[in-house]
Amino acid sequence: MANLRLMITLITVLVYLLPSFAKSSESTKVITLPKSLNLTLLTDPSTISTASHDYGNVTTVTPGGVLCPSSSAEISRLLRYAANGETIFQVAARGQGHSLNGQASVSGGVVINMTCLADITVSEDKEYADVAGGTLWVDVLRETAEQGVSPVSWTDYLHISVGGTLSNAGIGGQMFRNGPQISNVLELDVITGKGETLACSPQLNPELFYGVLGGLGQFGIISRARIVLNHAPKRAKWFKMLYSDFTAFTKDQESLISMNNDTGVDYVEGQLLMSNGIVDTSFFPPSDQSKVADLVKNHSIIYVLEVAKYYDDPTVPTTGQVIDKLTKTLSYLPGFISMHDVPYFDFLNRVQVEEDKLRSLALWEVPHPWFNLYVPKTQILDFHNGVVKDILLKQNSTSGVALFYPTNRNKWDNRMSAMIPDENVFYVVGLLQSASSQNVQEVESVNEAIIRFCKDSDIKIKQYLMHFTRKEDWVGHFGSKWGAFSKRKDLFDPKKLLSPGQDIF
Ligand code: FAD
Repeated sequence: MANLRLMITLITVLVYLLPSFAKSSESTKVITLPKSLNLTLLTDPSTISTASHDYGNVTTVTPGGVLCPSSSAEISRLLRYAANGETIFQVAARGQGHSLNGQASVSGGVVINMTCLADITVSEDKEYADVAGGTLWVDVLRETAEQGVSPVSWTDYLHISVGGTLSNAGIGGQMFRNGPQISNVLELDVITGKGETLACSPQLNPELFYGVLGGLGQFGIISRARIVLNHAPKRAKWFKMLYSDFTAFTKDQESLISMNNDTGVDYVEGQLLMSNGIVDTSFFPPSDQSKVADLVKNHSIIYVLEVAKYYDDPTVPTTGQVIDKLTKTLSYLPGFISMHDVPYFDFLNRVQVEEDKLRSLALWEVPHPWFNLYVPKTQILDFHNGVVKDILLKQNSTSGVALFYPTNRNKWDNRMSAMIPDENVFYVVGLLQSASSQNVQEVESVNEAIIRFCKDSDIKIKQYLMHFTRKEDWVGHFGSKWGAFSKRKDLFDPKKLLSPGQDIF
């Protein structure tokens, strides 16, 4: 998500020390598959170790074996055996393992490395692409853009898998216009917990289709997704503007997400810069960077509005008109605007630059006690005052990125499993902190304080990429959809084999 450069600091030599794992489960089970299944489970220490950890780097969940399937039929065979065989073991699909709390692993069971099945076929009319579940979004972009087309909804980071984001939602700055990634899927092939392979769409097996979208891997393994495509623009004009006033910031964000395609921009996000965090000024020209840093020092919090307008031909008047309107009518602090003109691919793949940097400093594989929330628009001011000012700003230090942007509910289909607040506009708040083994629990306790504050103040948040350990929290999360969610589990995965790392059933 957004600019990860801020993570670099505050995490120093400490990260080289051994992480203290909050959740740890060692496998004792050896899974022996009958020869007739003709499946090879990898059990070498390196493969098992990789499958035991994820991006969160706070858990160790050790599987008994890893399957690198050469076809979706192999997954189906494995699941049929697990569902009907004498040896009971659970199964977790794994994309890139960019989960935060062990959701893509399974203690003593089989992890399916979905990235072994990566494939993209663009339809002749270029209206959609059929993509294997383990394909990374960056590869979907590369392949489709070469043919002049592109998916319409993106996560900020592209080295995550199609099946992984569709199991959550796939959110980002384009969804105010096009909906999340789960709203831009025409059909799926899904291998259920019984080992059946079913095609599904709004017309065909709709219960499975809507269940799987945002379904946290509970009902089946996505082996193919048909993704909506549209014209791929050539370039993006990418702006950041600074605000010291929260109301002016959110008013402008909300106004931008209400505009239509012709008069508006294509991407809207936002971030918080706080005086107790590291202030990344690099988007601004070197001559302005100290002014930006001073601004944060003087105001304690500065709000960054981030927008992009895509274009093909810079001489077409509408692009200029939209940008003119942007720069002249928005209420950012005069002079505090910066624009980068970049290829479309580079704009979408912007976090890769930060990943490379962090990896080179050995700061990528540190604990990530990330906390993602949706907050209803009518409660965002209370949330800002109670959480940003009274909790986050009062910490001695913060590290990482704090995302803050509104989006529209109208592109989410309530039949999908994904949960969002019950208002037409809601905010995405992503507190994407990096930690060391020494302070990971401290950050987690701040996240818990935020949940407590929201509960006490009756702020109706929904969590994203959440990990609850108590059943009642899952029931509360799904609310009126809990009944349908459990029924779908009984229908498609009655033995409760799939994605047990989510800790729901
Ligand atoms: P995994 O972590 O491997 O799996 C996630 C869950 O889905 C697991 O329960 C797994 O069992 C299940 N699963 C995986 N594949 C399949 C499949 N084919 N069929 C069924 N179930 C499956 N998310 C956003 O929405 N927006 C962002 O902007 C964004 N930015 C990110 C930036 C970074 C740097 C990182 C690390 C993550 C970001 N994410 C973002 C989160 C990302 O969407 C999740 O990590 C998600 O889980 C996808 O990652 P993955 O493909 O590695 O899935």
